[in-house]
Parts: sequence; C-alpha cells; structure tokens
Amino acid sequence: MGERDLLSGLIRLHILHHAAHEPVFGLGLIEELGRHGYRLSPGTLYPILHGLEKGGFLHSRKEWVAGRQRRLYEITDTGRAALAQGKVKVWELFRELFEDELRFTTQGRVESQRKGSTQSDGAGDAPP
Ligand SMILES: [Zn+2]
Repeated sequence: MGERDLLSGLIRLHILHHAAHEPVFGLGLIEELGRHGYRLSPGTLYPILHGLEKGGFLHSRKEWVAGRQRRLYEITDTGRAALAQGKVKVWELFRELFEDELRFTTQGRVESQRKGSTQSDGAGDAPP
C-alpha cells in the first residue's frame, strides 16, 4: 500500500469539501490538491471522482467551455451528509494527532502551547 492509499480518504473529503462550495472539475481539482501538496495525475483523480459519483456523493454533468467539453461535479445530499460526518471524524483525529501541540479549552478555542519563545521559519532548523 502506498502513501496515496493511506491519504485517499483525506483526498476524498477534500474533494467533497470543495464540491460543497461550488461545482468542481478534474483539472481544477488537480491544481487545488496540488496546492495542498497532493500530486495527482488525471489517471488517479478520475477514478476517485467516478467512485464518488458511483457512491452517490457527487453528481456530474457535461459542460462546454471555450469549445471544449468538461465534466462538472456537484455534491449531492448524500455527499453533504457524508462530508458532515467526515468533518467530525477529521476533527477527532486532528485533536488526537496534535494533542501535544494544542490545548483545547472548554470554550472550544484552541490555544497553542509553545515550548520556548523562538520562532522557526522552518528552513534550516538546527537541532537543539
Ligand atoms: Zn483545498
């Protein structure tokens, strides 16, 4: 199993998240996911989109743009419900993954627990 398989659920939720805001299409998603560090080829993305459509989470229609046909994907009610459930699960996982870095107050705010005052720019970090 590769890293992409490990992260495939996150990629699917990411797609549903964007589809919940506006109709999405393949190349736009490849760009958007690339912005988040996921490098997907059309050969990888399209089967994911087809799977989401087959599962009833997305619905697609064809559209002509500048003389070219492209397939737009819109989220369905099933997709919205699944996204809402997925968000709860991601939130739970996020809290656990970052238990040490974050402290959650009873008001639901997140406070960062800094161990030291030096700020790193992430480039050329030296060990302590
Ligand atoms: Zn995004």
